[in-house]
Amino acid sequence: MSNSKDIKLVDAPPGVEGSGFFATQLDTVVGMARANSLWPLPFATSCCGIEFMATMASHYDVARFGSERMSFSPRQADMLLVMGTIAKKMAPILRQVYEQMAEPRWVIAVGACASSGGVFDTYSVLQGIDKVIPVDVYVPGCPPRPEQILDGIMRLQDIVRSESVRRRNSPEYQELMASYNIT
Ligand code: SF4
Repeated sequence: MSNSKDIKLVDAPPGVEGSGFFATQLDTVVGMARANSLWPLPFATSCCGIEFMATMASHYDVARFGSERMSFSPRQADMLLVMGTIAKKMAPILRQVYEQMAEPRWVIAVGACASSGGVFDTYSVLQGIDKVIPVDVYVPGCPPRPEQILDGIMRLQDIVRSESVRRRNSPEYQELMASYNIT
């Protein structure tokens, strides 16, 4: 029978001892990777979309945040950016796009129209996209400047960086999805 005196720790292989080692949590590493590679799906319907074009261009350069890779396929996008007035007739389309995105997925409502219907308090305009899909970050403004859109992306990065890898399986998230009748 062995006792603790028999246990000998194996020496580190040459070249991997000393500085250069660090311990971390999987959540932290995955969160950092996800936060710095949020691929956007631009759902632009009107003027706020123009501001996003400026955000993409060289002066503001969203590539600095790892988000230059536009995806027009929902399955290859992480971050749905809804920019512009969403008519009620368009709401089912927006919802379908959201449902086609793979988990984990996040949503930014860019500008007053996407966030609340903006000045269009009319029978035909959806009074905020959170009537049909969950929203993670709201960017105010009519239109928001590119700096504000970048700030919205950075706020989303904060969320992504700090959430659990398994957050999407959490009871809170399941409850949120259930409240939107999304399975
Ligand atoms: S918030 Fe203002 S700028 Fe943006 S889509 Fe609506 S009306 Fe246009």
